[in-house]
Amino acid sequence: MEAKLIGSLRYAKYRYPKNHPLKIPRVSLLMRFLKVMNLIEPEEVIESRKATDEELLLFHTEDYIKTLKLAEACQCVPNGAREKYNIGSYENPVSYAMFTGSSLATGSTIQAIEEFLKGNKVFNPAGGMHHAYRNRANGFCYINDPAVGIEYLRKKKGFKRILYIDIDAHHCDGVQDAFYDTDEVFVLSLHQSPEYTFPFKRGFLEEIGEGRGRGYNLNIPLPKGLNDNEFLFALEKSLEIVKEVFKPEIYLLQLGTDPLLEDYLSKFNLSNVAFLRAFNMVRETFGEGVHLGGGGYHPYALARAWTLIWCELSGRKAPEKLTEETKELLLSIDFEEFDDEMDRSYMFESLRDPYRGGEIRKEVRETLQKARALILST
Ligand SMILES: [Zn+2]
Repeated sequence: MEAKLIGSLRYAKYRYPKNHPLKIPRVSLLMRFLKVMNLIEPEEVIESRKATDEELLLFHTEDYIKTLKLAEACQCVPNGAREKYNIGSYENPVSYAMFTGSSLATGSTIQAIEEFLKGNKVFNPAGGMHHAYRNRANGFCYINDPAVGIEYLRKKKGFKRILYIDIDAHHCDGVQDAFYDTDEVFVLSLHQSPEYTFPFKRGFLEEIGEGRGRGYNLNIPLPKGLNDNEFLFALEKSLEIVKEVFKPEIYLLQLGTDPLLEDYLSKFNLSNVAFLRAFNMVRETFGEGVHLGGGGYHPYALARAWTLIWCELSGRKAPEKLTEETKELLLSIDFEEFDDEMDRSYMFESLRDPYRGGEIRKEVRETLQKARALILST
């Protein structure tokens, strides 16, 4: 088994506009970071390819994909597209990320699946755009690469039991809705409660699937200020529940880095060592899988966390310290902390955060108890 990172420096050209949280470099930053730290060899990188139309249409509608291409080509919002497809807003603006970037990320998820099926360990950091719907953009996402990947596995490879696990700070509404009525896909998501954050209308505990899909969807909504102990407790308990009712042939794991403390788009307080532990907990429970990126709006936190993931996947010992050259790389990108009172100097020194433990609140324990009762009673 070899480790493969599916990525490209081309993503740097397909970024979101200047006023958007995703204007920052992410995949290209990770790749440069790994190179500067001497943690990746050229033969471990697979250059990303674009998804074909046939692949995109495994999940998306033809008119929607046509509109994405059209909007990108004219760098404008076609008539009626704002209302019909939710593009051209502050949230989902027109840019080269909307089709070219998203199509590359989706082709990479298919590449990751193919490499995994050949027996390799895989990580596609550009993947995990979990909010997009079949026929509309949502939550910074235009093409839902996990949903396309899952449909590829079902329709092209004959898989019947696919597990999707999502630890991004936000609920995976696009993926949940795509597979809500089937027992072939189990969706597990741990996230900030929609009571206080995006996507607001989805991600509640009571949403457990419908029809044949009833009992094959598990949401674990979690409170603000979540600490490492609470997160790992919730993950361990929810993986136990899934394991009791579902025997996956394959899984996809979405590794958005926005639950980390430094990320300004979430209210969780996790460390990257708990993030790494979560990654390993999933692998210990279900073996190797297909690993995808996801949200993550603090570029330093993202680069450090995904570097830990890559080191683990590729069997490297992660270095303790960042080199001077690495620090310069981080400082060279266009990013400013919103809160400049915060002392983030540790991010330039060590790769690992201190563990951010704490008490496991009663409401977290109760959520897991209810989750168990809900899923096991169906
Ligand atoms: Zn997110």
